[in-house]
Amino acid sequence: MRRLAILGATGSIGASTLDVVARHPDRFQATALAAHRNVDALAQLCLRFRPQLAVIADPACEAALRERLAGSGCRVAAGPQAVLEAAAGSHCDTVVAAIVGAAGLESTLAAARAGKRLLLANKEAIVMAGRLLAKALEDGGGELLPLDSEHNAIFQCLPPRHANLAAAGVRRILLTASGGPFRGRTSAELAGVTPEQACAHPNWSMGRKISVDSATLMNKGLEVIEAHHLFDAAAERIEVVVHPQSIVHSLVEYVDGSVLAQLGNPDMRTAIAYALAWPERVEAGVAALDLLKVARLDFEAPDLATFRCLALAYEALRAGGTATTVLNAANEEAVAAFLERRLPFPGIAQTIDRCLNAVDSQPATDLDVVLDADLTARREAQRIIASL
Ligand code: NAD
Ligand code: MG
Repeated sequence: MRRLAILGATGSIGASTLDVVARHPDRFQATALAAHRNVDALAQLCLRFRPQLAVIADPACEAALRERLAGSGCRVAAGPQAVLEAAAGSHCDTVVAAIVGAAGLESTLAAARAGKRLLLANKEAIVMAGRLLAKALEDGGGELLPLDSEHNAIFQCLPPRHANLAAAGVRRILLTASGGPFRGRTSAELAGVTPEQACAHPNWSMGRKISVDSATLMNKGLEVIEAHHLFDAAAERIEVVVHPQSIVHSLVEYVDGSVLAQLGNPDMRTAIAYALAWPERVEAGVAALDLLKVARLDFEAPDLATFRCLALAYEALRAGGTATTVLNAANEEAVAAFLERRLPFPGIAQTIDRCLNAVDSQPATDLDVVLDADLTARREAQRIIASL
């Protein structure tokens, strides 16, 4: 029996995870559920899945959650510290890190340090602090399994035990990108796009932040950095290929010319079920892939001149240190401003570009350095957003 703490239980990844959990009550049990401030949604999940622990990150919501769960036998805790306890406590052996953004960093690190099986969806954590996460995993002796569909695909296409990519005979990692809702548009056509248009993803249904990231191609940029850390791959060995159907979830190219790919319908439950059951396989509720219905698979180069966020992510990765922390922080601030209609869509890339130029990169030696870079970059980004 796997005992799971699901951090970000009320989100899109949380819902997909709980859907897989509900299909296998003999294998998976949710022992802790955590969310930000949606008391109603969290309470409903707790009454259905009966975890030992329910955590609401916003302390102002504690009383309301207590009231909703009175008599349920579920212990209620609140605040950021309680989220860390949900990640590291003895009630769980597996942690689903599905909080969106930098807010998930410390709980992701705590799960790694505690030696849990870490199912990572929270890509911002690895972008902010990839080295620290690797160190925490090493110290804790646990294992990381990627939930991001591309990285999950790559994981499936790599040999199970290998010292490094060169030893495995890998030449390149090919990350596929759908291209998002604005694929094929020119810069001029992007000037006036709205949050609603940006969040209407053609293939995947996801939270609002990652939907905007998909529209700017920053999601792919974050994923390049994620792949760098997860697979110890240099930037020049990671290539992005636009594949509008989102059927090929990513590929690994070997030195002998073989290219292995993982295919499937665009449904996160496949990656989640794989990581939950690994090294076994379980049914995920995902429809069988009908290749005849898909009929064709298209591939094209990303338009880096129009979708500058992807190029900026490569730049930050090459710069190293806290540059990727700055990239992530500026992006989070800019995306929030865009969603609140304080910033036009092209302003997202402009903000990140200027912020990367304004904030010096430091070696990411410890958490304080990373959090300081995050805070400095957010202040700078706010200043830039106000000036745009
Ligand atoms: P979402 O917005 O649907 O859900 C976010 C969850 O995080 C919610 O449960 C929310 O309550 C919680 N949360 C937010 N701030 C918090 C805080 N301060 N403390 C505690 N909890 C907090 O987002 P999502 O689409 O589920 O994405 C979650 C993560 O997974 C992101 O990092 C995203 O990049 C990644 N991811 C998502 C998908 C997808 O298909 N949705 C695919 C790959 C990766
Ligand atoms: Mg992805």
